[in-house]
Amino acid sequence: MQYRIDPKSGNRISALGLGCMRIPGFAIGKPDPRTTRDIIERAIERGINYLDTAYLYPGNEVAVGTALARDGLRNRVFVATKLPHASCKRTEDFDRFFSEQLRRLCTDHIDYYLLHNITSPAQWERVRELGIEDWIARKKTCGAIRSIGFSFHGSTDDFPVLLDAYDWDFCQIQYNYANERYQAGTVGLHAAAARGMAVFVMEPLLGGRLADKLPAPAARLLAQAGEDGLQTPADWGLSWVWNHPEVTMLLSGMTSPAMVDANAAVAERALPDTMTEVQLATIQRVVELFERANRVPCTGCNYCMPCPHGINIPGCFAAYNASFAHGWFAGMQQYFTASAVRTSSPRLASNCVLCGDCARHCPQHIDIPARMADVRRRFQPGPVNTVLKLIRPR
Ligand code: SF4
Ligand code: SF4
Repeated sequence: MQYRIDPKSGNRISALGLGCMRIPGFAIGKPDPRTTRDIIERAIERGINYLDTAYLYPGNEVAVGTALARDGLRNRVFVATKLPHASCKRTEDFDRFFSEQLRRLCTDHIDYYLLHNITSPAQWERVRELGIEDWIARKKTCGAIRSIGFSFHGSTDDFPVLLDAYDWDFCQIQYNYANERYQAGTVGLHAAAARGMAVFVMEPLLGGRLADKLPAPAARLLAQAGEDGLQTPADWGLSWVWNHPEVTMLLSGMTSPAMVDANAAVAERALPDTMTEVQLATIQRVVELFERANRVPCTGCNYCMPCPHGINIPGCFAAYNASFAHGWFAGMQQYFTASAVRTSSPRLASNCVLCGDCARHCPQHIDIPARMADVRRRFQPGPVNTVLKLIRPR
Protein backbone atom coordinates (compact mmCIF):
# COMPACT_ATOMS: atom_id res chain seq x y z
CA MET A 1 0.00 0.00 0.00
CA GLN A 2 1.09 3.54 -0.70
CA TYR A 3 1.00 5.80 2.37
CA ARG A 4 0.94 9.58 2.54
CA ILE A 5 1.62 11.79 5.54
CA ASP A 6 -1.06 13.93 7.17
CA PRO A 7 0.89 17.20 7.49
CA LYS A 8 -0.90 18.29 10.68
CA SER A 9 -0.78 15.11 12.79
CA GLY A 10 2.12 13.31 11.11
CA ASN A 11 -0.13 10.23 10.76
CA ARG A 12 0.86 7.82 8.00
CA ILE A 13 -2.40 7.26 6.10
CA SER A 14 -3.06 4.78 3.33
CA ALA A 15 -3.55 6.63 0.04
CA LEU A 16 -6.73 4.56 -0.35
CA GLY A 17 -9.37 4.95 2.37
CA LEU A 18 -12.53 2.92 2.75
CA GLY A 19 -15.70 4.98 2.36
CA CYS A 20 -18.30 2.92 4.18
CA MET A 21 -21.41 4.73 2.96
CA ARG A 22 -21.90 2.42 0.00
CA ILE A 23 -21.43 -0.89 1.84
CA PRO A 24 -24.32 -2.94 0.50
CA GLY A 25 -27.14 -4.45 2.50
CA PHE A 26 -30.65 -5.73 2.18
CA ALA A 27 -32.01 -2.18 1.94
CA ILE A 28 -30.96 1.43 2.45
CA GLY A 29 -30.07 1.74 6.13
CA LYS A 30 -29.39 -1.94 6.63
CA PRO A 31 -25.76 -2.66 5.76
CA ASP A 32 -25.26 -6.41 5.76
CA PRO A 33 -23.04 -7.20 8.83
CA ARG A 34 -21.30 -10.08 7.07
CA THR A 35 -20.51 -7.99 3.98
CA THR A 36 -19.36 -5.11 6.17
CA ARG A 37 -16.99 -7.40 8.04
CA ASP A 38 -15.65 -9.02 4.87
CA ILE A 39 -14.94 -5.66 3.21
CA ILE A 40 -13.32 -4.15 6.31
CA GLU A 41 -11.19 -7.21 6.97
CA ARG A 42 -9.97 -7.32 3.38
CA ALA A 43 -9.27 -3.58 3.44
CA ILE A 44 -7.10 -3.95 6.53
CA GLU A 45 -5.31 -6.96 5.05
CA ARG A 46 -4.46 -4.80 2.02
CA GLY A 47 -2.99 -2.07 4.22
CA ILE A 48 -5.92 0.35 4.27
CA ASN A 49 -5.92 2.16 7.60
CA TYR A 50 -8.64 4.84 7.20
CA LEU A 51 -12.40 4.18 7.44
CA ASP A 52 -15.03 6.86 6.89
CA THR A 53 -18.62 6.75 8.08
CA ALA A 54 -21.21 9.26 9.36
CA TYR A 55 -24.05 9.61 11.82
CA LEU A 56 -26.40 10.20 8.91
CA TYR A 57 -25.56 7.05 6.96
CA PRO A 58 -28.38 4.85 8.26
CA GLY A 59 -27.12 1.84 10.20
CA ASN A 60 -23.58 2.45 9.03
CA GLU A 61 -21.79 3.46 12.24
CA VAL A 62 -23.21 0.43 14.07
CA ALA A 63 -22.17 -1.94 11.27
CA VAL A 64 -18.66 -0.48 11.12
CA GLY A 65 -18.30 -0.41 14.93
CA THR A 66 -19.44 -4.02 15.25
CA ALA A 67 -16.98 -5.16 12.57
CA LEU A 68 -14.10 -3.27 14.19
CA ALA A 69 -14.89 -4.61 17.67
CA ARG A 70 -13.63 -8.05 16.58
CA ASP A 71 -10.01 -9.14 16.95
CA GLY A 72 -8.62 -5.73 17.91
CA LEU A 73 -9.20 -4.28 14.43
CA ARG A 74 -10.11 -0.89 15.91
CA ASN A 75 -6.48 -0.24 16.83
CA ARG A 76 -5.30 -0.85 13.28
CA VAL A 77 -7.29 1.93 11.63
CA PHE A 78 -8.10 5.62 11.84
CA VAL A 79 -11.85 6.02 12.21
CA ALA A 80 -13.57 9.06 10.73
CA THR A 81 -17.16 10.03 11.33
CA LYS A 82 -19.24 13.16 11.04
CA LEU A 83 -21.38 15.44 13.16
CA PRO A 84 -24.89 16.10 11.79
CA HIS A 85 -24.47 19.80 12.56
CA ALA A 86 -27.74 20.87 10.96
CA SER A 87 -29.57 18.83 13.63
CA CYS A 88 -27.71 20.57 16.49
CA LYS A 89 -30.10 23.16 17.88
CA ARG A 90 -28.51 23.59 21.32
CA THR A 91 -24.95 23.34 22.67
CA GLU A 92 -25.80 20.07 24.46
CA ASP A 93 -26.60 18.45 21.10
CA PHE A 94 -22.90 18.28 20.18
CA ASP A 95 -22.26 15.96 23.15
CA ARG A 96 -25.49 14.05 22.61
CA PHE A 97 -24.62 13.09 19.03
CA PHE A 98 -20.94 12.50 19.81
CA SER A 99 -21.66 10.16 22.75
CA GLU A 100 -24.08 8.17 20.63
CA GLN A 101 -21.48 7.91 17.87
CA LEU A 102 -18.85 6.57 20.31
CA ARG A 103 -21.37 3.96 21.45
CA ARG A 104 -22.31 2.98 17.90
CA LEU A 105 -18.67 2.71 16.86
CA CYS A 106 -17.66 0.81 20.05
CA THR A 107 -14.77 3.20 20.67
CA ASP A 108 -13.61 5.87 23.10
CA HIS A 109 -12.24 8.29 20.52
CA ILE A 110 -12.65 9.43 16.92
CA ASP A 111 -9.44 9.94 14.97
CA TYR A 112 -10.91 12.24 12.32
CA TYR A 113 -14.12 14.07 13.18
CA LEU A 114 -15.88 16.15 10.55
CA LEU A 115 -18.70 18.63 10.42
CA HIS A 116 -20.80 16.89 7.82
CA ASN A 117 -21.51 18.53 4.50
CA ILE A 118 -20.79 22.18 5.17
CA THR A 119 -21.99 24.13 2.16
CA SER A 120 -21.67 27.75 3.30
CA PRO A 121 -19.87 29.94 5.86
CA ALA A 122 -23.29 30.69 7.41
CA GLN A 123 -23.59 27.07 8.55
CA TRP A 124 -20.26 27.28 10.35
CA GLU A 125 -21.25 30.64 11.87
CA ARG A 126 -24.45 29.12 13.27
CA VAL A 127 -22.67 26.31 15.14
CA ARG A 128 -19.90 28.69 16.19
CA GLU A 129 -22.55 30.79 17.93
CA LEU A 130 -23.72 27.61 19.66
CA GLY A 131 -20.21 27.25 21.11
CA ILE A 132 -18.70 24.55 18.94
CA GLU A 133 -15.20 26.02 19.14
CA ASP A 134 -15.05 25.52 22.93
CA TRP A 135 -16.62 22.08 22.54
CA ILE A 136 -14.00 21.00 19.98
CA ALA A 137 -11.21 22.31 22.20
CA ARG A 138 -12.50 20.27 25.16
CA LYS A 139 -12.81 17.09 23.09
CA LYS A 140 -9.33 17.50 21.67
CA THR A 141 -7.83 18.17 25.10
CA CYS A 142 -9.25 14.94 26.53
CA GLY A 143 -8.30 12.98 23.39
CA ALA A 144 -11.84 12.06 22.38
CA ILE A 145 -11.32 13.85 19.05
CA ARG A 146 -7.84 13.65 17.55
CA SER A 147 -8.25 15.75 14.38
CA ILE A 148 -11.08 18.07 13.38
CA GLY A 149 -12.23 18.95 9.89
CA PHE A 150 -15.23 19.37 7.63
CA SER A 151 -16.64 17.82 4.50
CA PHE A 152 -17.57 20.32 1.83
CA HIS A 153 -20.13 20.49 -0.96
CA GLY A 154 -20.41 24.27 -1.39
CA SER A 155 -19.14 26.74 -3.94
CA THR A 156 -15.59 27.41 -5.09
CA ASP A 157 -15.83 30.95 -3.67
CA ASP A 158 -17.04 29.84 -0.23
CA PHE A 159 -14.38 27.17 0.24
CA PRO A 160 -11.42 29.46 1.11
CA VAL A 161 -13.69 31.43 3.46
CA LEU A 162 -14.37 28.22 5.37
CA LEU A 163 -10.73 27.20 5.32
CA ASP A 164 -9.87 30.44 7.13
CA ALA A 165 -12.86 30.39 9.51
CA TYR A 166 -11.19 28.01 11.98
CA ASP A 167 -7.88 26.27 12.67
CA TRP A 168 -8.88 23.04 10.91
CA ASP A 169 -6.66 19.97 10.80
CA PHE A 170 -8.11 18.63 7.55
CA CYS A 171 -10.87 18.94 5.01
CA GLN A 172 -12.72 16.52 2.77
CA ILE A 173 -13.67 17.61 -0.73
CA GLN A 174 -15.36 16.13 -3.77
CA TYR A 175 -12.65 15.86 -6.41
CA ASN A 176 -12.20 13.94 -9.66
CA TYR A 177 -11.28 14.66 -13.25
CA ALA A 178 -14.83 15.77 -14.10
CA ASN A 179 -15.03 18.22 -11.15
CA GLU A 180 -11.87 20.31 -11.50
CA ARG A 181 -13.94 23.47 -11.59
CA TYR A 182 -16.84 22.33 -9.41
CA GLN A 183 -17.29 22.79 -5.63
CA ALA A 184 -13.79 23.17 -4.04
CA GLY A 185 -12.16 22.23 -7.36
CA THR A 186 -8.45 22.29 -8.13
CA VAL A 187 -8.17 25.83 -6.75
CA GLY A 188 -9.59 24.63 -3.43
CA LEU A 189 -7.33 21.59 -3.32
CA HIS A 190 -4.29 23.83 -3.67
CA ALA A 191 -5.64 26.38 -1.17
CA ALA A 192 -6.17 23.71 1.52
CA ALA A 193 -2.77 22.12 0.95
CA ALA A 194 -1.09 25.54 1.07
CA ARG A 195 -2.57 26.02 4.54
CA GLY A 196 -0.83 22.84 5.71
CA MET A 197 -4.03 20.81 5.97
CA ALA A 198 -4.52 17.18 5.08
CA VAL A 199 -6.89 16.94 2.11
CA PHE A 200 -9.11 13.90 1.84
CA VAL A 201 -10.99 13.30 -1.39
CA MET A 202 -14.48 11.89 -1.73
CA GLU A 203 -16.34 10.92 -4.91
CA PRO A 204 -13.12 10.22 -6.86
CA LEU A 205 -15.26 8.25 -9.35
CA LEU A 206 -18.51 10.19 -8.94
CA GLY A 207 -20.39 7.27 -7.45
CA GLY A 208 -19.22 4.94 -10.24
CA ARG A 209 -20.08 7.32 -13.09
CA LEU A 210 -16.40 7.60 -13.98
CA ALA A 211 -16.03 3.83 -13.61
CA ASP A 212 -18.44 1.17 -14.84
CA LYS A 213 -21.08 3.78 -15.76
CA LEU A 214 -18.76 5.86 -17.92
CA PRO A 215 -20.36 6.69 -21.30
CA ALA A 216 -19.48 4.03 -23.85
CA PRO A 217 -17.38 6.28 -26.18
CA ALA A 218 -15.30 7.48 -23.23
CA ALA A 219 -14.80 3.93 -21.94
CA ARG A 220 -13.72 2.85 -25.43
CA LEU A 221 -11.20 5.67 -25.60
CA LEU A 222 -9.61 4.55 -22.32
CA ALA A 223 -9.57 0.91 -23.39
CA GLN A 224 -7.92 1.79 -26.70
CA ALA A 225 -5.26 3.86 -24.94
CA GLY A 226 -3.79 0.54 -23.76
CA GLU A 227 -1.75 2.08 -20.98
CA ASP A 228 0.19 -0.23 -18.65
CA GLY A 229 -1.40 -0.52 -15.21
CA LEU A 230 -4.54 1.36 -16.30
CA GLN A 231 -6.86 -1.49 -17.18
CA THR A 232 -10.25 -0.04 -16.32
CA PRO A 233 -11.94 3.39 -16.20
CA ALA A 234 -11.73 3.14 -12.38
CA ASP A 235 -7.94 2.70 -12.60
CA TRP A 236 -7.73 5.88 -14.69
CA GLY A 237 -9.99 7.90 -12.41
CA LEU A 238 -8.27 6.89 -9.18
CA SER A 239 -4.80 7.34 -10.64
CA TRP A 240 -5.72 10.83 -11.80
CA VAL A 241 -6.63 11.84 -8.22
CA TRP A 242 -3.50 10.24 -6.74
CA ASN A 243 -1.40 12.02 -9.32
CA HIS A 244 -1.95 15.17 -7.24
CA PRO A 245 0.65 15.41 -4.44
CA GLU A 246 -1.72 17.71 -2.52
CA VAL A 247 -4.14 14.81 -2.00
CA THR A 248 -3.44 12.99 1.26
CA MET A 249 -5.94 10.18 0.77
CA LEU A 250 -8.94 9.34 -1.37
CA LEU A 251 -12.03 7.54 -0.20
CA SER A 252 -13.50 4.85 -2.36
CA GLY A 253 -16.91 3.40 -1.56
CA MET A 254 -15.85 -0.18 -2.14
CA THR A 255 -18.71 -2.64 -2.15
CA SER A 256 -16.92 -6.00 -2.18
CA PRO A 257 -13.58 -7.56 -1.18
CA ALA A 258 -12.80 -7.96 -4.90
CA MET A 259 -13.19 -4.22 -5.39
CA VAL A 260 -10.88 -3.62 -2.43
CA ASP A 261 -8.26 -5.84 -4.10
CA ALA A 262 -8.60 -4.05 -7.43
CA ASN A 263 -8.35 -0.54 -5.99
CA ALA A 264 -5.55 -1.46 -3.56
CA ALA A 265 -3.50 -2.76 -6.50
CA VAL A 266 -3.86 0.62 -8.23
CA ALA A 267 -3.05 2.50 -5.02
CA GLU A 268 0.25 0.65 -4.75
CA ARG A 269 1.56 2.07 -8.03
CA ALA A 270 -0.30 5.40 -8.50
CA LEU A 271 2.32 7.72 -7.01
CA PRO A 272 2.12 11.53 -7.20
CA ASP A 273 3.19 13.19 -10.47
CA THR A 274 3.61 9.93 -12.35
CA MET A 275 0.93 10.24 -15.05
CA THR A 276 2.40 11.07 -18.45
CA GLU A 277 1.39 13.98 -20.69
CA VAL A 278 -0.25 11.50 -23.06
CA GLN A 279 -2.31 9.96 -20.25
CA LEU A 280 -3.42 13.37 -19.00
CA ALA A 281 -4.41 14.39 -22.54
CA THR A 282 -6.48 11.18 -22.83
CA ILE A 283 -8.30 12.12 -19.63
CA GLN A 284 -9.10 15.55 -21.06
CA ARG A 285 -10.77 13.93 -24.07
CA VAL A 286 -12.73 11.65 -21.73
CA VAL A 287 -13.94 14.73 -19.82
CA GLU A 288 -15.33 16.18 -23.06
CA LEU A 289 -17.20 12.96 -23.86
CA PHE A 290 -18.42 12.62 -20.28
CA GLU A 291 -19.79 16.15 -20.17
CA ARG A 292 -21.79 15.53 -23.33
CA ALA A 293 -23.62 12.58 -21.73
CA ASN A 294 -23.75 13.81 -18.14
CA ARG A 295 -27.16 15.49 -18.02
CA VAL A 296 -27.83 15.21 -14.25
CA PRO A 297 -24.77 15.27 -11.94
CA CYS A 298 -26.26 12.73 -9.50
CA THR A 299 -23.70 10.61 -7.65
CA GLY A 300 -26.26 8.16 -6.21
CA CYS A 301 -25.48 9.14 -2.62
CA ASN A 302 -29.13 8.68 -1.53
CA TYR A 303 -29.11 11.78 0.71
CA CYS A 304 -32.41 12.81 -0.92
CA MET A 305 -34.12 9.54 -0.09
CA PRO A 306 -36.70 8.45 0.78
CA CYS A 307 -39.06 10.39 -1.45
CA PRO A 308 -42.44 10.57 0.32
CA HIS A 309 -44.02 9.50 -2.96
CA GLY A 310 -41.82 6.45 -3.33
CA ILE A 311 -39.79 7.64 -6.32
CA ASN A 312 -36.33 6.12 -6.65
CA ILE A 313 -34.66 9.46 -7.34
CA PRO A 314 -31.06 8.31 -7.96
CA GLY A 315 -32.37 5.35 -9.95
CA CYS A 316 -34.37 7.65 -12.25
CA PHE A 317 -31.37 9.94 -12.77
CA ALA A 318 -29.03 7.02 -13.42
CA ALA A 319 -31.44 5.76 -16.09
CA TYR A 320 -31.75 9.25 -17.58
CA ASN A 321 -27.96 9.64 -17.84
CA ALA A 322 -27.62 6.11 -19.19
CA SER A 323 -30.05 6.97 -21.97
CA PHE A 324 -27.57 9.61 -23.23
CA ALA A 325 -24.45 7.58 -22.47
CA HIS A 326 -25.58 4.19 -23.78
CA GLY A 327 -28.68 4.89 -25.89
CA TRP A 328 -32.35 5.63 -25.20
CA PHE A 329 -33.42 1.98 -25.13
CA ALA A 330 -30.79 1.00 -22.54
CA GLY A 331 -31.86 3.93 -20.39
CA MET A 332 -35.52 3.04 -20.76
CA GLN A 333 -34.88 -0.52 -19.59
CA GLN A 334 -33.07 0.87 -16.56
CA TYR A 335 -35.94 3.28 -15.91
CA PHE A 336 -38.46 0.44 -15.97
CA THR A 337 -36.44 -1.37 -13.29
CA ALA A 338 -35.84 1.74 -11.15
CA SER A 339 -39.49 2.75 -11.22
CA ALA A 340 -40.86 -0.74 -10.55
CA VAL A 341 -43.09 -0.50 -13.61
CA ARG A 342 -44.06 -4.15 -13.58
CA THR A 343 -45.32 -4.13 -10.00
CA SER A 344 -48.73 -3.16 -8.70
CA SER A 345 -47.32 0.07 -7.27
CA PRO A 346 -45.01 1.67 -9.85
CA ARG A 347 -43.04 4.70 -8.72
CA LEU A 348 -42.70 6.68 -11.92
CA ALA A 349 -41.21 10.13 -12.46
CA SER A 350 -44.78 11.22 -13.24
CA ASN A 351 -45.67 10.48 -9.59
CA CYS A 352 -43.54 13.49 -8.56
CA VAL A 353 -45.70 16.20 -7.00
CA LEU A 354 -42.87 18.77 -7.08
CA CYS A 355 -42.91 19.10 -3.27
CA GLY A 356 -39.15 19.80 -3.21
CA ASP A 357 -38.56 17.86 0.04
CA CYS A 358 -35.67 16.06 -1.62
CA ALA A 359 -33.78 18.97 -3.15
CA ARG A 360 -32.57 20.59 0.08
CA HIS A 361 -30.65 17.42 1.00
CA CYS A 362 -28.75 17.13 -2.28
CA PRO A 363 -25.00 17.83 -1.92
CA GLN A 364 -24.79 18.27 -5.69
CA HIS A 365 -27.40 21.07 -5.55
CA ILE A 366 -29.56 19.41 -8.18
CA ASP A 367 -32.98 20.96 -8.74
CA ILE A 368 -34.55 17.53 -8.33
CA PRO A 369 -38.20 18.39 -9.13
CA ALA A 370 -37.16 20.16 -12.35
CA ARG A 371 -34.87 17.33 -13.38
CA MET A 372 -37.53 14.76 -12.50
CA ALA A 373 -39.76 16.54 -15.02
CA ASP A 374 -36.97 16.02 -17.59
CA VAL A 375 -36.92 12.31 -16.73
CA ARG A 376 -40.68 12.14 -17.21
CA ARG A 377 -40.47 13.88 -20.58
CA ARG A 378 -37.69 11.56 -21.78
CA PHE A 379 -39.20 8.28 -20.64
CA GLN A 380 -42.92 8.91 -20.55
CA PRO A 381 -44.02 10.61 -23.73
CA GLY A 382 -47.66 9.91 -24.65
CA PRO A 383 -47.16 6.56 -26.45
CA VAL A 384 -45.00 5.19 -23.65
CA ASN A 385 -47.64 6.11 -21.07
CA THR A 386 -50.16 4.11 -23.08
CA VAL A 387 -47.83 1.10 -23.08
CA LEU A 388 -47.20 1.50 -19.36
CA LYS A 389 -50.93 1.31 -18.69
CA LEU A 390 -51.19 -1.86 -20.77
CA ILE A 391 -48.29 -3.73 -19.12
CA ARG A 392 -49.15 -2.72 -15.55
CA PRO A 393 -50.38 -5.73 -13.49
CA ARG A 394 -53.98 -5.45 -12.40
S1 SF4 B 1 -40.07 16.72 -5.44
FE1 SF4 B 1 -40.75 14.79 -6.39
S2 SF4 B 1 -38.99 13.43 -6.18
FE2 SF4 B 1 -38.67 15.10 -4.72
S3 SF4 B 1 -39.54 14.35 -2.77
FE3 SF4 B 1 -41.17 15.53 -3.83
S4 SF4 B 1 -42.30 13.95 -4.98
FE4 SF4 B 1 -40.33 13.01 -4.41
S1 SF4 C 1 -30.18 13.57 -6.42
FE1 SF4 C 1 -28.56 14.46 -5.12
S2 SF4 C 1 -28.98 13.67 -3.05
FE2 SF4 C 1 -30.13 12.40 -4.50
S3 SF4 C 1 -28.79 10.66 -4.90
FE3 SF4 C 1 -28.41 12.17 -6.51
S4 SF4 C 1 -26.68 13.40 -5.76
FE4 SF4 C 1 -27.49 12.26 -3.99
